[in-house]
Amino acid sequence: MLISIDGIDGCGKSTQVRLLAEALGATAIQEISPSRWGKALRGSDNPSLAQQLAWFTADRAVLAETLEAAAGSETNHIVSDRSYLSGVAYQSFDSVLTPEFVEDLNRAIVPDYDLQVYLHVPVEVALARVDARGIAKTWCEKPDRLTWASEVFARYARERDFVVQIDGYRTIEEVAVDMAAAAEAASTAAFGRRVW
Ligand code: ADP
Repeated sequence: MLISIDGIDGCGKSTQVRLLAEALGATAIQEISPSRWGKALRGSDNPSLAQQLAWFTADRAVLAETLEAAAGSETNHIVSDRSYLSGVAYQSFDSVLTPEFVEDLNRAIVPDYDLQVYLHVPVEVALARVDARGIAKTWCEKPDRLTWASEVFARYARERDFVVQIDGYRTIEEVAVDMAAAAEAASTAAFGRRVW
């Protein structure tokens, strides 16, 4: 199965990716892969929209083969820290690009996910968690951009069957229980049983 966890920085994605991957015996991966385009993205402190589009698209094209091997599979499971859904939410901020354009572009490149979780926490809570790390914020981590991204994520959770919203403003253990339940529901819907 191919599962992603998306949400704004500090919502708890990497914590939950690690826990869910352990529970499923899945491989944990991160969007923005170590490809040359992924490295270009990580190396830039303020990429232009054109650079974001070009580099994210190229990086996902590299990742697509790995994602395809897990999508719809009963034996190969991937839990990804972010998916193109983050591009849908972030690249449409103050942009000529609509969320739907970014979605269509990416769905032409990567397979359908078995489950995409939107892990919701209020922007101020996420920013406080990021501040507590004591590491400089990236170009993405600005309140207005995060507020926009949260609204797009929430809308996608309402409008797309494959996006499930989970409340991340609870203990790590409580969130992990809901993550496992969402994965099990997706597995049962696809295969009639739990496949891990
Ligand atoms: P993200 O990958 O979304 O940026 P992280 O998983 O790195 O988020 O979590 C950001 C910070 O918040 C980390 O210090 C982590 O330990 C902490 N954290 C994660 N989940 C929770 C939670 N449910 N409650 C409180 N703190 C959390």
